[in-house]
Amino acid sequence: MTIKSKLGPIPFPAPVVKIYPKRGPLQQFRFAKATSFRCERCGRVKKSKLVVRYENDWSRLLCNACYGTILSERQ
Ligand SMILES: [Zn+2]
Repeated sequence: MTIKSKLGPIPFPAPVVKIYPKRGPLQQFRFAKATSFRCERCGRVKKSKLVVRYENDWSRLLCNACYGTILSERQ
């Protein structure tokens, strides 16, 4: 199921409830319900309300753990 929004078509069944500021190519979104997705970095299938998108591409997603790791490596 895809929800159409001003963010472009989002390949998740739940609406976005919060959009976080972009950090470089990464942007985190909070969904109303936990959704399953595969993290591109660690390769694990995660179920979470928090999803991180890479370079405005909904086919390239990261989990919250990898997002935290990437941000800490940049500092
Ligand atoms: Zn990950």
